[in-house]
Amino acid sequence: MSFKNLNIIDPLQRALAKEGYTIPTPIQMQAIPHLLKGKDLMGIAQTGTGKTAAFVLPILQRMSEELKVPIPGAPRVLVLAPTRELAAQIDQSFATYGQFLRFRHTAIFGGVHQGPQVRMLSRGVDILVATPGRLLDLMNQGYIKLKGVEFFVLDEIDRMLDMGFIKDVRKIVSALPLKRQSLFFSATMSQQTGEFAERLLKDAVRVEAAPQASTLECIKQRVFFVDQTSRRTSAPRPCMISNPATYRCLSQLILLHAALTSMTYPML
Ligand code: AMP
Repeated sequence: MSFKNLNIIDPLQRALAKEGYTIPTPIQMQAIPHLLKGKDLMGIAQTGTGKTAAFVLPILQRMSEELKVPIPGAPRVLVLAPTRELAAQIDQSFATYGQFLRFRHTAIFGGVHQGPQVRMLSRGVDILVATPGRLLDLMNQGYIKLKGVEFFVLDEIDRMLDMGFIKDVRKIVSALPLKRQSLFFSATMSQQTGEFAERLLKDAVRVEAAPQASTLECIKQRVFFVDQTSRRTSAPRPCMISNPATYRCLSQLILLHAALTSMTYPML
C-alpha cells in the first residue's frame, strides 16, 4: 500500500516523498479513504501513530478540489488542540504537507501577544489551528467568524476534557455551521469522550490505531526500588532477570555504556 493507492494528489505525494514517507501508517490507511469521501470520523490514535497526516492530507486534498480566496478572519478549516505546543506542531504539519499547495495557515494560542496573530488573521487564512481559550477570546473581540468553516478537527479530545475545556469547546462548536465535516481524535475512549463525540459527529466512521508502544504480553515486567544514593551505581542483578540470554545482553550494554561514559557500575 502506498500513498498513490490512497489516491493522494501529486502535490501532496511530492511533499510526502520529500519527507521520506512512502508507506501510509495504519491510521492513515484506515482514515484517508473515508475522509476523502467527506465522512465524519472518530479516530482513536495516540501521538506517534501518524494521526496528524491522517487528517491534514485529506483536508488539503479536499480543499484543493474547490479553491477559494481566503476571507479575513473566516477560515475554511478549524483545528482545535489542547496545548500551544500541539497547535504549533499541527500548523507545522500543514506547512510541511502543503508545501506544494498555496494555502495560508496559522496557529493561535495564549501566553503570547495577540497582535501578530490578529494581523495574520486580518490578511486571511484558509487554515486556523487554535487552542480554545485564545480562539474564544479573538472571536469575542470580533477578529474571527466561524461561519465559513468546512472542516472541523478536534485533536486529543481526552486531554481537552481533562484540562477542563469542555465549556469552551461547546461554545466554539455552537458558532460553527451545521454543514461541515468533523474529525475527532483521542488517544483513549472513555464514556465521556464517547458521549461527547456522539452528540457532535454525524454518521461517523470509527478507526483505531494500535498504540505504538503497547506492552507485549510475553514480556514480564517488575519494579525494583533503588534508593537515591545508589541510583547511579545500581545495575541489574541476575536474580532480577529470569532469562540468562537477556541478562547477558543487558550486561554487555551496561559495560559498553560504562566504557563510553566512564560511569561506574557495581560488578555485574
Ligand atoms: P503524529 O502521530 O501525527 O504526531 O506523527 C508522528 C510522526 O510520524 C511525525 O514525526 C510524522 O512526521 C511521522 N509520520 C507521519 N506519517 C508518516 C509515514 N507515513 N511514514 C513515516 N513517518 C510518518
